[in-house]
Amino acid sequence: MAIARVALDVPVPMTFDYRDGGLGLVSGALVVVPFGRRRQVGVVLELAQQPLVERARLRDVERVLPVEPLPAEALALIQFCSDYYHHPIGQVALSALPTALRRSAFAGVRGEVGYVLTPAAAGLEQRTPARASVMQALLAAMRGGAVLGAAEARRISPRAPGVLREWQEQGWVEERQGEVSSPPATMQPGPPLTDEQRAAVERIGAGFGSFAPVLLDGITGSGKTEVYFHLIAHALARTEQVLLMVPEINLTPQLEARFRSRFPGVRLAAMHSGLAEAGRCQRWLEARSGAAQVVIGTRLSVFTPMPRLGLVIVDEEHDASYKQQDGVRYSARDLAVFLAQQRRIPVVLGSATPSIESYHNARSGRFVHLHLRSRPAASRPDIRVVDVRDVPPQHGLSGAVVDALDARLRRGEQSLVFLNRRGYAPSLTCSACGWSAECSRCSARLVWHLREAALRCHYCGHEEAMPAACPACGNQDLRGLGQGTQRLEQTLAARFPGARVLRIDRDTTRRKHAWRAMREQIVGDGADILVGTQMLAKGHDFPKLTLVAIVNPDNALYSADFRAAERLFQQLMQVAGRAGRADRAGEVLLQTRFPAHPVYEALQRQDYSGFADALLAERKSAGFPPFVYQAVLRAESVSPSSVTTFLEAAARVGAGHADGVTLYDPVPAAVERVAGHFRAQLLVQAPGRAALQRFLRAWLPLLAEGKPARVRWAIDVDPLDL
Ligand SMILES: [Zn+2]
Ligand SMILES: [Zn+2]
Repeated sequence: MAIARVALDVPVPMTFDYRDGGLGLVSGALVVVPFGRRRQVGVVLELAQQPLVERARLRDVERVLPVEPLPAEALALIQFCSDYYHHPIGQVALSALPTALRRSAFAGVRGEVGYVLTPAAAGLEQRTPARASVMQALLAAMRGGAVLGAAEARRISPRAPGVLREWQEQGWVEERQGEVSSPPATMQPGPPLTDEQRAAVERIGAGFGSFAPVLLDGITGSGKTEVYFHLIAHALARTEQVLLMVPEINLTPQLEARFRSRFPGVRLAAMHSGLAEAGRCQRWLEARSGAAQVVIGTRLSVFTPMPRLGLVIVDEEHDASYKQQDGVRYSARDLAVFLAQQRRIPVVLGSATPSIESYHNARSGRFVHLHLRSRPAASRPDIRVVDVRDVPPQHGLSGAVVDALDARLRRGEQSLVFLNRRGYAPSLTCSACGWSAECSRCSARLVWHLREAALRCHYCGHEEAMPAACPACGNQDLRGLGQGTQRLEQTLAARFPGARVLRIDRDTTRRKHAWRAMREQIVGDGADILVGTQMLAKGHDFPKLTLVAIVNPDNALYSADFRAAERLFQQLMQVAGRAGRADRAGEVLLQTRFPAHPVYEALQRQDYSGFADALLAERKSAGFPPFVYQAVLRAESVSPSSVTTFLEAAARVGAGHADGVTLYDPVPAAVERVAGHFRAQLLVQAPGRAALQRFLRAWLPLLAEGKPARVRWAIDVDPLDL
């Protein structure tokens, strides 16, 4: 009888053997097995004849979940992710599945009702006016005899069920049970392509059917999305599926709406962590069956099995949110490249400010480097530095910024004031004794939130009431030092009493749909001045916005992280890109005490390539990535000495295997204590990927053997934060 080697969600790097129980298992099957005294869902990775444990101890697989098994390519991606990031295979495999499929009680999804057009509906599409967009989209979705599922119909529009019912009564539509299917894909005409866009589409299009990694290096407003759409049309014409990845869940509704209007009827599955469990599962199954033609999703969507995948696009590829920072610490962008290589298909990494890693790959010829340098929709914004060394800003705003805001208000245009720090003031201090409010559980200051009259820790979430007097000396004159978005909002409201000021940060968008309502308010001309954090920086189009004021970017210049300059440029360029997208020229003002800093100089010239070349040269001479490869061993414990002991022992053990690999001394993490846990880390560096991987394979099992008491540790390969 065959033995099933099953991956389970347990923190050990191994699989577990079970008898197949006469179920006729295949690899990739999702199965329910007894584990200890509980039941768990597992993934059959392979079938074997000989068990790795005594036959007498084997137990039976209980049942197979009623879903198609994972295809071989999906298993290969899971295996690669586990090997490369050194994370237990079972945890990788199970975290790649939608939650509903991880439940042992999963009983399958009910077959949904499908709809098809009847012969009586002939000519209906021509008779329906173009402005009846919901009807048009539904008709497009049933073109060519395609069966439209009820769930997809509701995604097209909440009004769809009513329309379909009416058509059923007319005899134009009938219900059909069983598999849904896809209509032939057609793209609605969009704006004419520029020469650069057309060249990019042709160049990438020529690589279909083979592994062809491309860096699409295009400034904000250069129309990368239009290039994506043409490539998607190309893939759909080849009846292939497309995976389009975006960094942020907040960006998916906007892109989804844009996509649906250009590709009416095309089966689209948006996958992100904000979906309810059933919805996510259903979309995953649609992708797995091939019914979903396009998947748009955040980083986890890279694991979505798609049998006819023909193209992968990673938008804003430089964005740090593609890197998962806990659990399986993978880079979805890097996995997307692996996926494309494995499937022999093109992968397009798009960005206005590519990561230095991708830029290096393009420079060195590993990736094809394509440029979009013109901005068809509008001219480039004018970026100017406001030197605040001699005349310090009043309440954070320089005279130049106040004047520019005033001019926009008089012209009825929108402005954005960017400050990447939420709350009222980043710290609260006593003017008499120097006391300052600190989190009792973290090595961090508490942030004063005025409206809530609270002090909050932005690391552990701890909250306490704002004290009436200094807890150390009783003085009542407590002062907030520095400026957060709340305070800036207050300052702006006082300075411009007639203006409608809208603050957008994690605090004001916490409620579900809050951000969507705010975006509608902005686009619908319901706000004059936006105050916001980096949430506002990413990819949103605000047609009336003509001024971006960046009021305090200098803090990032003090960072010890070698990636700080790269990140600051990327973030500021992205914020600057919000200005003047439509027919209005944009202006960007940057308040700084370091007007001659290379980051700001390059930003004014809007010369990312020059800046990136300089960074690459610097990193090469300093011996930083991408010229070396790194991994960080992170450890934490309530006991600081346990962390030190563990890391020192790890360094000693590692020294014996460090063939060409450098192990640095353990150091405290940037924020040493979070929620009562002390954190420290050990950096490992190697001249090549292979040498690093060889070392990790030899070293990590030895650490697990040591069974460190009370220490939690994890390895982070290709870390983004040190
Ligand atoms: Zn005091
Ligand atoms: Zn805290």
